[in-house]
Amino acid sequence: MRVSQLLNPTLREVPAEAEIISHKLMLRAGLIRKAAAGIYTYLPLGLRVLKKIERIVREEMDAKGGQEILLPIMQPSEPWLETGRWNVYGEEMFRLKDRHDREFCLGPTHEEIVTDLVRGEVRSYKQLPLLLYQIQNKYRDERRPRFGLMRGREFIMKDLYSFDRDEAGLEVSYQKMYDAYCRIFSRCGLTFRPVEADAGAIGGTGGTHEFMVLAESGEAAVVYCPACDYAANVEKAECKPEPVPDSPAVTPRTMVSTPGAKTIEQVSTFLKIPKTQLIKSLLCQGDDKVFLVLLRGDRELNEVKLNNALGGFISLQLASPETVYRILGCEPGFVGPVGIPKNLMVIADLEVKLMPKLVCGANQADQHYINVSPEQDFRIDREFDLRMIESGEKCPGCSVPLQEARGIEVGQVFKLGDKYSKALQATYYDESGKEQFCVMGCYGIGISRTIAAAIEQNYDQDGIIWSMAIAPYHCIIVPVNLKDAPVKEAAEQLYAQLREAGVEVVLDDRDERPGVKFKDADLVGYPLRVIIGSKSLANEQVELRQRRTGETELVDLKGLAEIIKNKVDLGL
Ligand code: ATP
Ligand code: MG
Repeated sequence: MRVSQLLNPTLREVPAEAEIISHKLMLRAGLIRKAAAGIYTYLPLGLRVLKKIERIVREEMDAKGGQEILLPIMQPSEPWLETGRWNVYGEEMFRLKDRHDREFCLGPTHEEIVTDLVRGEVRSYKQLPLLLYQIQNKYRDERRPRFGLMRGREFIMKDLYSFDRDEAGLEVSYQKMYDAYCRIFSRCGLTFRPVEADAGAIGGTGGTHEFMVLAESGEAAVVYCPACDYAANVEKAECKPEPVPDSPAVTPRTMVSTPGAKTIEQVSTFLKIPKTQLIKSLLCQGDDKVFLVLLRGDRELNEVKLNNALGGFISLQLASPETVYRILGCEPGFVGPVGIPKNLMVIADLEVKLMPKLVCGANQADQHYINVSPEQDFRIDREFDLRMIESGEKCPGCSVPLQEARGIEVGQVFKLGDKYSKALQATYYDESGKEQFCVMGCYGIGISRTIAAAIEQNYDQDGIIWSMAIAPYHCIIVPVNLKDAPVKEAAEQLYAQLREAGVEVVLDDRDERPGVKFKDADLVGYPLRVIIGSKSLANEQVELRQRRTGETELVDLKGLAEIIKNKVDLGL
């Protein structure tokens, strides 16, 4: 490709709309343009990167026996009504009606439609296992579309669905996908970690892992063990309850005045008592149920764990101050578990019971109780691990202190079990002629998000640094002065040779100053750059520069095409 012909509108200025580096660089390098919030057009270079990642994903899916299909984007509401997710999906789902008033959605995911397909086509155990996948647009009306391709409303996903005869079969399919994902992200040149994760709205009771590209800007926090394999999303990470030392006073429960002290911080300072001896009492509301949640004062509530513990709500939130007042007769800052109405359920984190004496709100303005005993002074109806893990806590596997990192979720693998096959009656007949439910798994990769993640992990002040495997082109030729006939000729010749050798190459044949060309080349991030100037050309030599290391060497023009071809093949 000749740069003069290429639709590659690079920008010198950083666009105001972009907050994170990958978004800024993708706009500046002319890879994408915004059409609406969370909706983008891919320009030629952006599309090439996308296609390269798609190709790697296809190869690895096919290698594991995946069969590519293409499911419809526009999906009828019926199968969604059968699984109950038509309502659960809420505002994130783009919905539309046809001229006959029939309801449809733009697929946010495809469990329903693929299970609908399989229930119609699969009869016998002989047809299983079946691994069906597609690479296609997904639509989610995200609350906060942002960061360019990172969180779009229209984005591109690879989704594979596995159908097996039993749990043991699912285990095999899951492991295949887990391994394929490791290969895919390694081939894309990314530093990543698979982490244990929460199953979220997609459901299923089996295991799930998220594949995280490690980067400072990642939205997800993960903990990992430096000594063993353990790694988990903080939403999921299992917390071991830790006992706190006994407080000195052994006096009976007493009400004390704490004027204006509403937060854990304020009460701790006012009473000169460490936060580990305070209790955090949160009146929460899930759908129309209200309950009291208790945690140690220095801990943070993990809403995902709470939601799971209670069977999942459509909306889980802190109760409004009005609700707190109506039920407990005080402001949220003075809530506590002592003397509460009998029908108010109390859900405590596992550590609460281990607190020998504690301080809590007295359900009266400006009052707290001290010397409260969890055994004698209040009731706990249900106990769960409800808190957020903190870095430095012990690994649940080997007790070494955990470390924290930030990650971008580029993929997730789920064991779904029979949740969808049961709801949609996707069955098969086993060897003995008995009808059984298919056992399913689903496996997604955010192809478009992976582009953004790759940039978040690989850039410098000059622009993007692609790994060879996903770069839009392998190499750019920059003739310093095209008016110089030998330079022009050498450039054209090398361009032809490289194309012949199967190297993806662009020739910067624009009538621009060399500085402009170099800046653009760095910004776009071609892994290799050949600079052809009259001075070195007099010795039949040119400069070869590596984008990642900045390393430049003078090389003979003769044989250069082979050298470059080798570097491309080796992915250097
Ligand atoms: P998130 O928690 O980031 O919203 P998710 O867990 O809802 O993502 P999945 O349903 O697991 O997403 O989708 C599979 C993959 O699709 C994700 O791992 C992610 O890489 C990608 N993905 C999900 N939502 C988006 C989005 N809005 N924009 C771009 N990619 C997305
Ligand atoms: Mg996910």
